[in-house]
Amino acid sequence: MKRTHKNNPQVAAPVRGELFVVSAPSGAGKTTILKRVLAHLHGVTYSVSHTTRPPRPGEVDGRDYHFVTHEEFRELIENGAFLEWAQVHTDLYGTSREEVEQAVQRGEDVVLDIDVQGARSIRENYHGGVFIFIVPPSMEELERRLKKRGTETEATIRVRLENARRELEAMVEYDYIVVNDDLDLAVEVVKSIFLAERTKRDRVLPLVQAMLGLTL
Ligand code: ADP
Ligand code: 5GP
Repeated sequence: MKRTHKNNPQVAAPVRGELFVVSAPSGAGKTTILKRVLAHLHGVTYSVSHTTRPPRPGEVDGRDYHFVTHEEFRELIENGAFLEWAQVHTDLYGTSREEVEQAVQRGEDVVLDIDVQGARSIRENYHGGVFIFIVPPSMEELERRLKKRGTETEATIRVRLENARRELEAMVEYDYIVVNDDLDLAVEVVKSIFLAERTKRDRVLPLVQAMLGLTL
């Protein structure tokens, strides 16, 4: 993206950044979409979760997840280190309170790639947040994508598909629903949501007034 004025609100958050909570049934393409969206937007941080799940081939500790043992995870819960945490499928996943707070205080938007339970606790306990749900074009395609990814055993794929129906019921709780059929289109739609949210009046007004030298 070509750099615009450094105070342009589409590039820089005015005071505190916003949380963008993104959920989807496993295999819908959320990680693929988010990687591409994040590569094209300035001022957005991906919140790296903690998990007890083992790394998949190619996943890097500290970049994709903080991979921890059950014992370490339990300790983090006891220390209040998580903004939210949940058991998803067969493992524990949690969002670091400190990482998120530091990023929003720097004025960065933060992407939380979390499940529907995590999204619920953010909705209940956090002021603000934009909630985006990504769906596959069909259940058959979801199964195909999970198998194509080839990172789970047949048994884990079964668990994820069984959970998918329950997760899809939660989509009514979200602000935006994006169908990931054509990947390029889905990426454009998610990018547009970020840009539109960053253009909301309450967020841009103080910055734009300062840019234009207006005192109202
Ligand atoms: P999630 O993070 O939602 O579990 P992934 O991003 O890992 O899902 O995607 C699951 C699989 O589906 C991957 O192999 C990915 O390359 C593929 N995929 C993602 N989006 C599409 C799409 N629009 N069309 C076809 N395949 C896709
Ligand atoms: P995966 O094992 O495929 O990376 O992730 C499984 C599910 O856990 C996905 O729905 C993902 O969004 C969710 N998840 C990842 N990190 C967190 C987290 O910190 N909290 C919660 N609640 N869910 C998470």
